[in-house]
Amino acid sequence: MAIAKSFDSYYPVTGESIGTYPIWTEGQVREAVAHARSASAAWQELGFSGRKKILLRWSKLLINRIDECTSLISLETGKPVSDAKLEAVLAISHLSWAARHARDVMRTSHRSPGAVMANMSATVERSPVGVVGVIGPWNYPIFTPMGSISYALAAGNTIVFKPSEYTPGVGMWLAQTFAEVSGLPDVFQCVTGLGKTGQALCESGVDKLAFTGSTNTAKIVAATCAKTMTPVVLECGGKDPVIVAADADLKRAAENTIWSAMSNAGQTCIGAERVYVVDSVADKFISHLLEVVVTISPGAPGVGNYGPSTMPKQIEVIESHIKAAIKSGGRLIYGSAKSVKAPYVSPVIFTDLPEDSLAMTDETFGPTLAVNRVKNTDEAIRLSNASKYGLGASVWSKRKGKQIASQLHCGMVAINSTISFAAVASVPFGGVKDSGYGRIHGPEGILEFTYPRTVVRARFQLPVSFTNFKRTAGNDKLIIFLTKFLNGRFG
Ligand code: ADP
Repeated sequence: MAIAKSFDSYYPVTGESIGTYPIWTEGQVREAVAHARSASAAWQELGFSGRKKILLRWSKLLINRIDECTSLISLETGKPVSDAKLEAVLAISHLSWAARHARDVMRTSHRSPGAVMANMSATVERSPVGVVGVIGPWNYPIFTPMGSISYALAAGNTIVFKPSEYTPGVGMWLAQTFAEVSGLPDVFQCVTGLGKTGQALCESGVDKLAFTGSTNTAKIVAATCAKTMTPVVLECGGKDPVIVAADADLKRAAENTIWSAMSNAGQTCIGAERVYVVDSVADKFISHLLEVVVTISPGAPGVGNYGPSTMPKQIEVIESHIKAAIKSGGRLIYGSAKSVKAPYVSPVIFTDLPEDSLAMTDETFGPTLAVNRVKNTDEAIRLSNASKYGLGASVWSKRKGKQIASQLHCGMVAINSTISFAAVASVPFGGVKDSGYGRIHGPEGILEFTYPRTVVRARFQLPVSFTNFKRTAGNDKLIIFLTKFLNGRFG
């Protein structure tokens, strides 16, 4: 069997080929990583201000050429150009935040040495890890990978990026524009290919691997990286809940929830998939949902409120979840199995969906929403936390938002808003449980691509030393005495 040397990317609306890209081999990926390693010293020597200058120049280019970038995103994903613009603008704001804040976040920190070690100065320095491998998804082909790329670059790392095989053009465009503004093409390289190329990047000896994609692939990536003890950041799927309390602004909650669940054809890892609404306001909330959902429909860019499913095989998953929901006794209040007409899926809403239904336990990644009634917010919290996922959540309540949020077992919560946490550059993004680990965005996202180096220096020498072979029994007594005394347990 001949081994393919290239692959095509497709316009999901028509299925026609829109580009052909090389499949990078294991050897070529290793070469790219070697180039990134060679470029490392020059990138680090630029220092924070040199890197900031280049990264801000890049963010300026991205905003000036946003039409070029977003028509490419729309072509490769099928999403409306205006959604691509929103995505690109968010990515650009993260890039400039990372560029402006890396110095402060990575500043050497001075720690108290403690009373027994009072003659020491204790500091923790931060260094970039070196070369970061980034493996990206297709649903937000600029916003998602740039969450790792921007923060890792600002910290002083060089990057080898393997974009999704569904959006290779956006990945190449990012690397080309970075090279244009920096004149340093080896600092950020893009390698195209399928899963095997991603695997080669995991095995290439990069110093850290940042992955965004499905939980199943994340587990394979983590296992591959474990062989070389390559640390990983995993941003995976979710089954994000929305909690609607009795005191919620129901109309606003409904409008936001429909957008969260249906925009981008439901292909948003932090999009709403299940709603727990308090019984006393459930009927009113559901009628608001229905008022909104009738106004939206899928279609080609410029026609629909959202586009097709970008990945043809996802259609089968969505269909299987709708069928599972019907079989398990869920009540359809909008749409049906007939809402699936590849490449589009029209909105589908269920109520009273058993918690153990596949459509309730697994990520659907389609424009579907399950709305279940609960007695009170305690029950909503318990059911939200019962999921194997723990990525994001939304809470709608005028008075109890914070109290509910702090009981949720997940990485991010939006109160009286939707996915707001993804747009605030100063806060970390990531999940717990099957949604992954590690963080991008914010100071945590910069630190994720660094390692701490502890430096403890003797400021002056004490008359007694405990760290040589001249230590006496008297010295032992002294140190025990001091420890007891200083711990407040003496006497
Ligand atoms: P999805 O199914 O949502 O596209 P995946 O999780 O399969 O997402 O893919 C996300 C990224 O992971 C893509 O860039 C894909 O090429 C890459 N990938 C797939 N399989 C592997 C693998 N075994 N090792 C590393 N990367 C992989």
